[in-house]
Amino acid sequence: MKNEHNISILGSTGSIGTQTIEIARENPEIKIKALAAHRNIKLLEEQAREFKPQTVSVTDENAAKELKIKLADTDIKVISGEDGLIDIATADGADTVVTAVVGIAGLKPTIEAINAGKNIALANKETLVTGGHIVTKLAKEKSVALLPVDSEHSAIFQSLQGCRDRKEIKKILLTASGGPFYGKKREELKNVTPSDALKHPNWDMGAKVTIDSSTLVNKGLEVMEARWLFDVDIDDIEVLVHRQSVVHSMVEFCDNGIIAQLGTPDMRLPIQYAITYPYRKPMKNNVLDFTKYPSLTFDKPDTETFFALELAFRAGREGGILPTVFNSADEAAVELFLKGEIGYLDIADRIKAAMDNAPTVENPSLDDIFAADKYAREFVKK
Ligand code: NDP
Ligand code: MG
Repeated sequence: MKNEHNISILGSTGSIGTQTIEIARENPEIKIKALAAHRNIKLLEEQAREFKPQTVSVTDENAAKELKIKLADTDIKVISGEDGLIDIATADGADTVVTAVVGIAGLKPTIEAINAGKNIALANKETLVTGGHIVTKLAKEKSVALLPVDSEHSAIFQSLQGCRDRKEIKKILLTASGGPFYGKKREELKNVTPSDALKHPNWDMGAKVTIDSSTLVNKGLEVMEARWLFDVDIDDIEVLVHRQSVVHSMVEFCDNGIIAQLGTPDMRLPIQYAITYPYRKPMKNNVLDFTKYPSLTFDKPDTETFFALELAFRAGREGGILPTVFNSADEAAVELFLKGEIGYLDIADRIKAAMDNAPTVENPSLDDIFAADKYAREFVKK
């Protein structure tokens, strides 16, 4: 059994990042070699002093300068900018990189980490949504593992342990909590405010993914992420609304047998499993008490109200740059919504308009993907 895990964390100050830190605190065999954040230097300094990584990176140049002064009494190197993030992704001594930054910003550093032979504990779903064809091919070539952190994908991955032949997979049953507006119709969602949409019933996550959960964009991104991670046809993925978030997802096999992974809604387990895979480690405070869940319910999603989910299936089916347009239009629209500049229903409407107007680009290169990202952001802001 491997008894040391050397990791770097991209996005260590976020929701996934801080839970990864918590796991490292509980497991002294997890060593942190490098950390990266965007601008939260207060928390990054605390993390750096506690875990003493070789290098930390702050994307924001001014914040990086400030942190350099604060950490002047230590041996920790402080770097900055987009290059800094790539340096953390490829840092010496780490064998696994936890990609917990939010948005398409995760794509390039993940590619560089794979090029450097690092295994990827993948939280950043945008990486596979936008560059799945490039990333999965490269990971194969470099023989590195893409280990899912997203709870649904971890559940699928866990359910597939012991599956000898991927051809035996008939269907993936991807569960969705339904978010805070389950059961509501479009008419009732017109005046939703950011604070309404930021209240998730079961999970405590970063702002972007919480809004995405409420619009079902998150589930759409997860459908595309699953398609690449498990090499299945997009139409062999079925979304099921499961309000209790206990069954984290399931796999149906050719003999109609179904294997599921269950547990409390707690991201620490999937994060830890991605780091310690193929081994499991004890964990505190996440025992599932079945008697607290007298019924587990399953339902079809309302894709008329939450049509962004259908848009994601369309993007996944058509491929090319459309998944990037879906993703980046959403990133831009959520930003505008959080600033109070557009309404809640505008999010999905603008994603659709950006997709309808997008050019067709087959088998996009990285440059094409970043051009599509730019197009979608500009389109949504217009
Ligand atoms: P948060 O918003 O909580 O954290 C984002 C992290 O990324 C922070 O450390 C932030 O730094 C950093 N960051 C933000 N923008 C940039 C940038 N441009 N360059 C470098 N670093 C950046 O997000 P979450 O932790 O919720 O989500 C992270 C990823 O994991 C997302 O892709 C999300 O979809 C996925 N995910 C999250 C889940 C969850 O439970 N939270 C569940 C499943 C998947 P700073 O703090 O300094 O701004
Ligand atoms: Mg998820």
